[in-house]
Amino acid sequence: MAYRKRYGGNYKKYFEKYKENKTLSLKELEQIQLERLKTFVANSKQNSDFYRTKFSDIGTITSLKDVKKLPILKKEDLRKNINTIYTINKEKANISKTGGTTGKSLTVRFTKDNTQERFAMLDVFRSSFGYKLGKKTAWFSGKSILTQNDIKKNRFWKTDYYYKVRYYSTFHINKKSIPFYITNLIKFKPKFLVGFPSNMYEIAKFGINNNIDFPSNTIKAIFPTAETITPDSKKAIEQFFKTKMYNQYASSEGAPFIFECKQGKLHFELQSGIFEVLDENDNETNEGRLIVTPFATEGTPLIRYDIGDNIELLDGTCTCGNNNPLVKTILGRSDDFIYSKETGKINLGNISNTLKDTEGIVKFQVVQNILDEITILLIVDNKDYTEKTEKIFLKNWRDRVGYKLQIKLKYVNTIPVEKSGKYRMVKNNIKHLLND
Ligand SMILES: [Zn+2]
Repeated sequence: MAYRKRYGGNYKKYFEKYKENKTLSLKELEQIQLERLKTFVANSKQNSDFYRTKFSDIGTITSLKDVKKLPILKKEDLRKNINTIYTINKEKANISKTGGTTGKSLTVRFTKDNTQERFAMLDVFRSSFGYKLGKKTAWFSGKSILTQNDIKKNRFWKTDYYYKVRYYSTFHINKKSIPFYITNLIKFKPKFLVGFPSNMYEIAKFGINNNIDFPSNTIKAIFPTAETITPDSKKAIEQFFKTKMYNQYASSEGAPFIFECKQGKLHFELQSGIFEVLDENDNETNEGRLIVTPFATEGTPLIRYDIGDNIELLDGTCTCGNNNPLVKTILGRSDDFIYSKETGKINLGNISNTLKDTEGIVKFQVVQNILDEITILLIVDNKDYTEKTEKIFLKNWRDRVGYKLQIKLKYVNTIPVEKSGKYRMVKNNIKHLLND
């Protein structure tokens, strides 16, 4: 693992700074934001060919509102122009590859300093729940870590004994292997769980359905990464592992952070960037597209980047002492939806709710390749899954998509994950057919 890259250099300095800054007033936070924005825009103009041209008519930034003068950067623009957006060369950079819906991946370059700053911020968040590098942690990551021999021996993990991290493979979780995962987790006694929530969810569901009693007071907190969390998965994970899960929003492109606090509220971290929520006409709104300007992306500057996620804001303040503004929900990828001519777009939250009142559905993935049809891949547990369950599940779908869309159910043993290791509940391949 790239510990030196993450925890070397200025990591400590940033960690101390952001720990101290946890209770800044909103005014102080905005002041920091403005200073960072000014230098970020000026440096991007100076060091990136793309922004030099694009911002040639734009004067200096004097207030946070000035960000509105800058053009919005779409994902496609980033992809097309990435070589002129970079401000540093490959050799100097920490590389991050991001997956895309179309399968085309994007390579983002981070400066070493920015990487350290980002990890420090993330660790300040985790440290408020007792986490520290070196405390026993079970990690579900998208890295391929096992040998054929490991698999043959039902050993689905690798341990870093120095930092006390055990990496569990996320590519081998199935009904047959889950008992080995659970037995090993109980034996390892991690204090923290980090990683893909979809994998923790599968393990938790298996544990609950098989009446396995995970020892209480083992895990202090769970930190999901990378995927959208559905209420069902949160509930099952917390129930089985007998602890709380604290969400965070980030992305491999370097999006600014949103962190959940002890009160269970989501806060923007204004020190990590500028957040805007806009409607289709780019006007400010309460629920809509998230546009981000993350300060720690100096190697591949993202300025007013349309990251493809939707969020909903929440008014008011929090009692936890953190004065960063609140987010009601992270609605997830704006292209994670199914389209029905009858009822329109059905978003991820509504899609995951099709599991309501069903039993025995281990996992599903809905794929839409044409406008008139969807295919749902289903992994079921035959002990609990009956014809009645199928009826309920289909009824839940009909309530959302209407009766004209054709629904094909396909019972499978595995659902392939993305190259990044992430599981996607929705694969929408019809976005280009819609006109909005
Ligand atoms: Zn709070």
